[in-house]
This record gives sequence, structure tokens and C-alpha cells, in this order.
Amino acid sequence: MHAHRTWVEVSARALGSNIASLQALLDPEARFCAVVKANAYGHGLREVTTIARTNGVDTFAVDSIDDALQLREWGPSSLILVLGYTMFDRYKDALRANIHLTLYDKEGIERAQGVGLELARPFPAHIKIETGTNRQGVHPQDQDDIIRLLQRSTMVRVEGLSTHFANVEDSRNPEFATGQYLKFQKARSRFVDAGIDPTWKHCACSAAIILYPQTHLNFVRAGISMYGLWSSEIVEDTVRTQGFSCDLQPVLTWKSRIAQVKTVAMGEPIGYGLSEAMKRSGRIAVVPVGYWDGYDRGFSSKSEVLIKGTRCKVLGRVCMNMMMVDVSQVAQPQKEDEVILLGTDGLHRISADDLAKTAQTISYEVVTRINPLLPRVIV
Ligand SMILES: *Cc1c(COP(=O)(O)O)cnc(C)c1O
Repeated sequence: MHAHRTWVEVSARALGSNIASLQALLDPEARFCAVVKANAYGHGLREVTTIARTNGVDTFAVDSIDDALQLREWGPSSLILVLGYTMFDRYKDALRANIHLTLYDKEGIERAQGVGLELARPFPAHIKIETGTNRQGVHPQDQDDIIRLLQRSTMVRVEGLSTHFANVEDSRNPEFATGQYLKFQKARSRFVDAGIDPTWKHCACSAAIILYPQTHLNFVRAGISMYGLWSSEIVEDTVRTQGFSCDLQPVLTWKSRIAQVKTVAMGEPIGYGLSEAMKRSGRIAVVPVGYWDGYDRGFSSKSEVLIKGTRCKVLGRVCMNMMMVDVSQVAQPQKEDEVILLGTDGLHRISADDLAKTAQTISYEVVTRINPLLPRVIV
């Protein structure tokens, strides 16, 4: 048995099953790219990519060149795409390790060309098109300039053309996404007409993979759904009510252990700021997890944990490395008993969505903020 106080369990079976469920939605020639930014959505980069590889995944997207280089060490033959910003100083590292970079401006393309010439190797790039998210991307008015630049940039190999949807999770109305998709297709034609016809065309994230199969093209970027979480309630609800087939199973369980059990009288305050007092006399447990670990201080006095199949409320404020929970209803709580912070225990479940609601955020933030220094254990 491992001796962790607080740790994350990653279910290889659930992850494999989600990958299969998502791949079942794709045309056979479409490439499945596992988005593993933010420490694989808090699940552990190493653990997730190892399991994904075992399930035949050979394409990964990360945010940073550092993660890309780490992945390259573990998987010499995968296609690795950096989605986020890469500093000029790191372009050489990228090319040497055959990492695909997302480029969207003149400076980036010129730098890639320069480094390509210097290392005498074509620089693999995915050109991102601005279609309405107003995040990264080549604006329509700059497309012709970028195309001309790419035509001259003999050492830049355009491997992919991409865009990203702004409103596929948060709306039942496909209008904005459809507009973005049409703008993307228009840009693609302009590139193709200019003789730039990249192998990979991609725009679909989880919500689009599940709800808008017409946007899959030949490459999809699956993040949250691969981890068994829904992009939003709207996506989950649409799947359930409109008979879409997609079964997702949460991959992550977050656990800790009881550090101390004590009896506290009615009216006694709990924790910093005396923010909450015992409503009746009972037992509390101290649990060695706090906001440093990623257990949001906003959960104070609000969230619950599971101990021996019983829901236990967090009492008072979540501290940096500890918190207190009400174990009055637990049968004989003992030191070192397991505490489930996020996950399922018998009939009870505390989902990432439940915690997200408590802190008025989204499940993405709850799982990605689990401190990467906590151990991840594949189960
Ligand atoms: C994070 C990200 C994704 C994955 O989105 P999910 O909703 O988690 O599937 C896809 N594409 C880009 C560009 C991203 O940044």
C-alpha cells in the first residue's frame, strides 16, 4: 500500500473507456488528439499519457513547449502540438524535438523560417485562424499577407490549419459556431487556392466532438470529455435528452485521510475567524488537505466529503494545508480512514461539477487546480 496523505487516483479503465466512446463518434480517418494541458487537466501528465498510449493514442496537445519536450522524452514518435504561446527563444528546442507549434502572426512565421534555415530542417506549424473567439488567430483581413509570407517561407511546413469555437459549450444555439465553422472553411479554401494544403484541419473541442460531428474534419482535440467530465450542463443535457450516444466516466478520484478525530461541544467555534460554530455537540475530523492542495477556500462551510460512505460537511474555513469536517454521522471514524474529496463511494458521489457549483466555477477549474505536486496513482 502507498503511504500518501492526500493523493489523486486515475482510473485507467475509465480513461480507456472514454477514449473509445469519443473515438466511436469519429470517422475512421480522423485523428484523435488528446489535450493534456494543465497537467492533463490535473489528472497527471505522465499517468494520462501513459494510459492514453496504451489505448492507441499517438497525438497530444499541450499548452507549453516545456510540456511538449517532456512528452517527447516519453514518446519519441507521437505527434505533439503546442496550443499556447511559445517564446522565440524556444523555437529551436521545438524544431529539434519535432514539436508542432501553433502560429498565427508574421513574427512567429518569420522566426520559424529563420530557425528552419539555421537547423536546415522544415519547421512544422499549425496556422490558427481567427473566426470569432478573438483569442489566438490570423484575422481575416491579414490572411492574404500571411498566405504570401507562408509561400515565401520555404522552411515552414504548414502541417495544420485550426480554429477554436467560442460558444459550443454555453449555448444550445449553434448559430455562432456555424458562423465560425464557415469562416474557417472559407479561410481554408484561400489557403488551398494559394497552394497551402495542410494535412490536418481541426477545430473541434469536446463539445463540438459530441454535438457537432460535421466539424470533426480530420483531427479533433479532446480535453474535458476524455477525463469523463461534460463540457457543460448544456452539453450533458443535450446528450441525455436528444439521444446522442456518448458514455463518459469520471477518471479522477481525489482522496485524503483523517488525521485526528475529536468531540466538540455545541456552540464551539471551528477554525480561523470563528466563522462557524457547532450547531450541536458532535465529532469532527481534521483532514490534511487545504487550499494549497487545490481545495478551494471558497468551499469553506459549503462542500462535503465522503467518509465510509457518509456525506460529511466541511466546517469553518478551509486552511492552507488542513480542514475540518463533521463526522458525527460516521460510524466509528478512525485516524487514517480514507476521505473522498472528489469521487464516488457506494451510493454517494461528489462530482467535479458539484464542487464547481459550490465555488461558482466550472469543473475544468476544479480539476486543473489540484496541486500538481500531489501524487497521482493509476488504479
Ligand atoms: C483546451 C483546448 C481544447 C480542449 O477543450 P475541451 O473543452 O476540454 O475538450 C481544444 N482546443 C484548444 C485550442 C484548447 O485550448
